[in-house]
Amino acid sequence: MAGLKILILGGTTEASDLARRIAGDGRFDATFSYAGRTREPAEQPIPARVGGFGGVEGLAAYLRDEGIRALVDATHPFAERMSWNAAKAAAETGVPLLALRRGPWVRQPGDRWRPVASVEAAVGAIGAEPRRVFLTIGQKELAPFQMAPQHDYLIRSVDRPDPASLPPKARVITERGPFEEAAERALLIEHYIDVLVTKNSGGTATAAKLAAARMLALPVAMIERPAVPPGVETVDTADAALKWLEARA
Ligand code: NAP
Repeated sequence: MAGLKILILGGTTEASDLARRIAGDGRFDATFSYAGRTREPAEQPIPARVGGFGGVEGLAAYLRDEGIRALVDATHPFAERMSWNAAKAAAETGVPLLALRRGPWVRQPGDRWRPVASVEAAVGAIGAEPRRVFLTIGQKELAPFQMAPQHDYLIRSVDRPDPASLPPKARVITERGPFEEAAERALLIEHYIDVLVTKNSGGTATAAKLAAARMLALPVAMIERPAVPPGVETVDTADAALKWLEARA
C-alpha cells in the first residue's frame, strides 16, 4: 500500500527532526518544502521542493494536484504569512493540518527582557543614546534599524544580508546555530555589547545568547510572536507530530 502523502512546510529544526523520523518509513510518502530564503538549506532525507506556491490558491492547487492527505506547518513561528496561507488552504481543500511550533522562550529569574510587539518597536526600545547592539533577527528585517544610526550593531544571520538594508555602523557575522553559552558570552564581552535584540523564536539552537545575557545582566529587547491562525491543532515536538501522522497513516 502506498504511504500517506504528506507535505511538510519547513525551514526549522523541528521540521528537519520530523523529516528524519519519517524518512524510509513505508507508511509515509512525504515532501519537504523550503521557501528558498537561505542559500544553502540543510539537506533533507526526504524529497524536497523549493519556492513559494503562489499564495493560498497556489497551495490549495498543490495539495489537490499532488493528492496530499496531511499538511504539517513546521515553519518558523515568525513565518506568519505562510502559516495563515496553510490554514486557509487546508480549510479550502479539507486536508488535515497540524502546526508543529516550538514553544516560546520563557523569562527566567535574572532576565532583563523588554517585550516588544514588532521589529520597529525594538528599534525604539534600544533608546536614543548610542549603544552597542547584538542583533539576531535574521537578515530580512534589518532596514528599520537604519532609523537608529547612532548605534553600533553586531548582526548575526545565516546568510549575508543585503548591504542596502544595513544601518551605517554594522558588522556582520554569518553563522548558523547551534551556539554554546560560553562562546556566546565571549562574543558579547569581546564586542562590548550593551543590549540584545532578538525574536522570541524558542528552541534550543539559539537560546544560549539569552543565558549569556542573563549572566552578564544585559537587557534584551524581545520581539513577541505574531498571532497564529485560530483553531489549528498544534504540537511542539517532532515526536508529537509523528504520532499525529501515524494516526492518519
Ligand atoms: P512568510 O513571510 O510567512 O512567507 C512569505 C512567503 O514565502 C509565503 O507566502 C510563501 O510564498 C513562501 N514560503 C514561506 N515558507 C515556505 C515554505 N516552507 N515552503 C514554500 N514556500 C514558503 O515567511 P518568511 O518569514 O519569509 O520565512 C520564510 C522561510 O524561512 C520559512 O520557511 C520559515 O520557516 C523560515 N524562517 C523564517 C524565519 C523568520 O524569522 N521569519 C526565521 C527562520 C526561518 P507563496 O505565498 O508564494 O506560497
